[in-house]
Amino acid sequence: MKSLQEQDAQIFDLLEKETDRQNYNLELIASENFASKATISAMGSVLTNKYAEGYPGKRYYGGCEVVDDVEDIARDRAKKLFGADWVNVQPHSGATANAAVYLACMKPGETLLGFDLSHGGHLTHGSPVNFSGINYNAEFYGVNKETGRLDMNIIRDRALEVKPTMISIGASAYPRDYDYEAFRSIADEVGALLWMDMAHTAGLIATGNLKDPLPHAHVVTTTTHKTLRGPRGGMILVGKDGENTIGVTASKSGRTKNWGEVFDSAVFPGTQGGPLMHVIAAKAVSFGEALQDDFKEYQIQTQKNAKAMAAKFMEMGYNLVSDGTDNHLILIDLRNKGLNGKIAEDALGKSAITVNKNMVPFDTESPFVTSGIRIGSPAMTTRGLKEAEFEQIAVLIDHVLQKPEDADTHKKVEQEVRDLCDRFPLYDFVTA
Ligand SMILES: *Cc1c(COP(=O)(O)O)cnc(C)c1O
Repeated sequence: MKSLQEQDAQIFDLLEKETDRQNYNLELIASENFASKATISAMGSVLTNKYAEGYPGKRYYGGCEVVDDVEDIARDRAKKLFGADWVNVQPHSGATANAAVYLACMKPGETLLGFDLSHGGHLTHGSPVNFSGINYNAEFYGVNKETGRLDMNIIRDRALEVKPTMISIGASAYPRDYDYEAFRSIADEVGALLWMDMAHTAGLIATGNLKDPLPHAHVVTTTTHKTLRGPRGGMILVGKDGENTIGVTASKSGRTKNWGEVFDSAVFPGTQGGPLMHVIAAKAVSFGEALQDDFKEYQIQTQKNAKAMAAKFMEMGYNLVSDGTDNHLILIDLRNKGLNGKIAEDALGKSAITVNKNMVPFDTESPFVTSGIRIGSPAMTTRGLKEAEFEQIAVLIDHVLQKPEDADTHKKVEQEVRDLCDRFPLYDFVTA
């Protein structure tokens, strides 16, 4: 960081500020995590200089011997981690991984059946403001109003009604696991492809703490920076069944391609140019970490912490969507407390607790206000917090939400947050 400090004090100061913010706030945004120093080092490396359009052994540029090895290692580790037949580690983000899946699997105007954004789904699963909803005919399924959970009978009825080309699974705010077998049998019944977007839960899936979609979905996408705890980025995977079921497709030249090659073409040249080799190196580093035993311990603790926090909130009279969680996040419906998501997010922010407002299923507020907040355990579990601290956090959040406008409460809670953060140090590489 010394060269940065000398050359560009303005940006250096901001990095210092952000390091301090990360060190001294309770990071409870469910999609965020703290990458290791080794991962961050690989990202801030000379590999950012290298163009490597194409794939290892088949590049459009010279001088790719080293980055070929890097990408091969990243792919091999990812395959091992998820038991995949084939992976592509080049997508710049979760959204671009998804863009490649659409390009490979659907023609514009065809129908996608996806998880409703307002029930926890993601923008890239057919939202009208996203390319997926603009270029494709998006239909949706949602959760059961009584249980807050997906109901496979409702989803089957929707699939029979809209006859989708592809069915998507995966969400940003759904606290429960999925019945992949049932999804696959519905997909088979209506002749659709099945795509699972495990962006949020990839880490928990890698360690077997949640069910494995790879044997059931034709294709799986993920981000690498959420529970997987790698650098910001995306990835596409195909399991054994996906490959066998789709088999081979004839390309224009008449040569047969396997399913993995179809997705490779959809990433490059289909939707991206040169891969970010520094990020791919960082992906390799984080996959190496995820293959270690302590990563399994980490995921177990992430799940335990979310469950402990859920139980504590329910004990204090909060309404949780689906009455709890199977994974790393909880979704609180604040309506019985006379609050909305915006008020809660703002008050908690003033108390050094970072969460995000979130729509709850059948929400009566707009997306800018919302009736809920989403809280995740991955980041603070990385810092070493356990069940007792997560229960303490639930109590702190309750203090703030009881008096959201009270500056004294904000101040008191902020001090408690500081004490907690001091007990579980994070980064020291910018601030001394
Ligand atoms: C986070 C997320 C994405 C998008 O990832 P980006 O890297 O932000 O593009 C896609 N799908 C789901 C389900 C997500 O939660």
